[in-house]
Amino acid sequence: MKVVTVIGARPQFIKAAAVSKALKTHAPEIQEILVHTGQHFDQNMSNIFFDQMGIPTPSYRFDIHSLPHGAMTGLMLARIEEVLLTERPDAVVVFGDTNSTLAGALAARKQNIPVAHVEAGLRSFNLEMPEEINRILTDRISTLLFCPTQKAVDNLQLEAFDRYDCRIVVTGDVMLDAVLTFGPMATPPLISLPERFVLATIHRQSNTDNLEVLQQLIDALHIIGASVPVVLPIHPRTRNILSSSAIKLQDDRIILVDPVGYLESLWLIRNADLVLTDSGGLQKEAYFLGKGCVTLRDETEWTELVESGANIPAGTSVQGILEAFETLSAAVIVPDLSMYGSGAASETIAAILLHLHHEM
Ligand code: UDP
Repeated sequence: MKVVTVIGARPQFIKAAAVSKALKTHAPEIQEILVHTGQHFDQNMSNIFFDQMGIPTPSYRFDIHSLPHGAMTGLMLARIEEVLLTERPDAVVVFGDTNSTLAGALAARKQNIPVAHVEAGLRSFNLEMPEEINRILTDRISTLLFCPTQKAVDNLQLEAFDRYDCRIVVTGDVMLDAVLTFGPMATPPLISLPERFVLATIHRQSNTDNLEVLQQLIDALHIIGASVPVVLPIHPRTRNILSSSAIKLQDDRIILVDPVGYLESLWLIRNADLVLTDSGGLQKEAYFLGKGCVTLRDETEWTELVESGANIPAGTSVQGILEAFETLSAAVIVPDLSMYGSGAASETIAAILLHLHHEM
């Protein structure tokens, strides 16, 4: 069975690391061909993950990035289409909710190639998020919907997905697989860090493109940083916007670092008092590693984390963030990993793909 896997952005490298490893255990029955769109491209947003996590070198690598959504998705669609016409795979695997996800799914579906969506069924119910649009459209044209949680299945059922010709499976979360595999290898970043710190990341378009919002987030981090320093691995988008804005960071309160590798990211989460983030993946990793998470958004797709008390969607006001920070500083988080499966989501996905192929 030939599988083309489309990746392009940081969280997809991490998810693909887990799934590629599982697919490889079925070689030569499954042959995986990786396509990297180039959405994230530099050393610390791309290459480092391939090195640290042993992801196979992509057979196809484009250089499509730093473009508006339409241009980026359109170019990806055209290039992926060419690959699929050449390779004629039995299935295409896509992850999550980026433009690379949607382009991969659309290119495959238009050629009647079955699409497997890993991390299907997530919803923020906020259609202003580009990620939400990508998720909904990708789910709708996918053949296999690999859901990380039961909640994701419930979301699809609310949208009447059982009427469609697709298969919905709860597999567990491949990000849990990755944390269980790579957690023991977590390493500190090569920077001097205080003994105690909190970890923050900011990169969502709604938080970076509106300077008033970004200023509020930085104001909140400055206030928190007065009592416990904030380590902020800075996403390139956020760095660019900050450096062309009048927003100033106080370096005695916010320790700005370049984006770190996955092993360093896991180390930072594990050693932080807690996490403040607008990232989807980091919210779960915080939970897996027993840390509270102040989510710097009004809503989250990972609502089971909110129900567990480990995550508070604090919005973007200074007051909201400080209140959530205070609540979670006093909380003890005892994770129930079973909400996200048993750490074998990737094996389940590989086995189902193979099963589907045998059925055809
Ligand atoms: N991450 C990383 N280095 C960093 C920041 C994050 O390796 O400097 C990892 C993090 O541990 C998580 C993933 O990147 O596994 C999250 O990706 P991101 O926040 O870019 O995307 P999202 O999860 O919001 O889609």
